[in-house]
Amino acid sequence: MEFISVQEALNKKKGKVAIRGWVYRERKLKDKVFLVIRDSSNVIQCIVNSNNTKWNDANKLLIESSVEIFGDIYKDKRAPTGYEIKVEKLNVVHFAEKFPITEDQSQEFLLDKRHLWIRSRKLTAVMKVRSTVFRAIDDFFFKQGYYEMPPPIFTPAGSEGGGPTLFEVKYFNDKAYLTQSWQLYAEASIFSLEKIFCISPCFRAERSKTSRHLAEFWMAEVETAWQDLDGLTKQAEELVSFIVQEVIKNNSGDLKILGQDIEKLKKIKVPFPRLTYTEVLKMLKKDGIKIPWGKDLRTVEEDKIMEHFDKPLIVTHYPKDIMAFYKPKDPKNPKVALCFDMLALEGYGEIIGGSERDLSIEEMKKFLKKKSDNTKNYEWYFDTRKYGSIPHSGFGLGVERVVSWLCKLDNIKDAIPFPRTMLRFKP
Ligand code: ATP
Ligand code: MG
Repeated sequence: MEFISVQEALNKKKGKVAIRGWVYRERKLKDKVFLVIRDSSNVIQCIVNSNNTKWNDANKLLIESSVEIFGDIYKDKRAPTGYEIKVEKLNVVHFAEKFPITEDQSQEFLLDKRHLWIRSRKLTAVMKVRSTVFRAIDDFFFKQGYYEMPPPIFTPAGSEGGGPTLFEVKYFNDKAYLTQSWQLYAEASIFSLEKIFCISPCFRAERSKTSRHLAEFWMAEVETAWQDLDGLTKQAEELVSFIVQEVIKNNSGDLKILGQDIEKLKKIKVPFPRLTYTEVLKMLKKDGIKIPWGKDLRTVEEDKIMEHFDKPLIVTHYPKDIMAFYKPKDPKNPKVALCFDMLALEGYGEIIGGSERDLSIEEMKKFLKKKSDNTKNYEWYFDTRKYGSIPHSGFGLGVERVVSWLCKLDNIKDAIPFPRTMLRFKP
């Protein structure tokens, strides 16, 4: 008989089934052994009676042993997923040693044992949501005629203020840096493909030990020829709304395991609210938080402002001076840049950053010099403004930030299978 997944067995409801997986829980009684078996799809309770020819094997099974089971499935209200299999044939593929992870382990211990903890129901659910997020991003852009074009990972210089957050690597007899963002290469590439996106790893030596920063994370980036800030923010809200609706459609069971409120997520539909940076400061002032104009919003302030909203917020027109060199000033108000961030709900912070791109080589050079950055590294990039320069814009969405938010995670580390942070790059 062919093996089916646990979920397929549950869907079948009755009759003979053959499943395989791992022992998730076991309870040994005098005359029967209860096994909860898990596979990637779900869990199901199985019962082995003492007259089974493999009764001795069943009694030796420890958690995470791998087994093949054949038997009758039937409804049983007491079982964790509502059905039970009466085991006729049990084949132990591997007797596991005593599993080191038991209940109530510290977060650090679980991170040390990540290669085993990845099997947990929680992380399994998160990784399924993550997979949907990746696919949704692909679908969204492909449907709109975008090309996928991943970036180089070795780069000669940074794009995000470079310096302290660059990872330096030995590159033969030279020095190179791991990419922080695809953007500068994307800007060069739109002259060929016009509409491009990628989902790529990014590396930032973030020294802050926040629950929102990883040293290696995945960013979905998009760059579009001829598009202005207005079109860009519309695209960003449509993308996020699409991701959320796809996750609801494909992962409702996972969201339940993670304790996420699906009804709340259903409301995440366009249009999202929009405020300028200056309006945000005014709103914060009413909340009793005074920020001098020109200072970047800190996470506490982002969290505070989000208490007023039940959809992600698009904040536009940040002060030009605190933005990256390629974000252009607004011709109507040169103190602010034509840029935006999207803030998620409930303290999950910034999920997207984007902008129009400066077309003036002179402005960009002036800005870089003011920040004592080396303009030489960007000469190739300035070339893109010399041959048929056009308006264009793009944004980057932090995949793990979105996964953290959708999965209601306490820490971004659980949004990626093997997290790398300032304090950890193992296992
Ligand atoms: P933050 O202020 O939160 O550090 P940023 O302004 O440095 O973010 P961008 O350079 O705009 O971020 O990057 C685009 C997106 O990538 C961010 O909106 C965020 O979702 C994500 N991101 C940035 N840095 C990290 C990181 N270290 N770990 C995980 N995601 C990140
Ligand atoms: Mg940052």
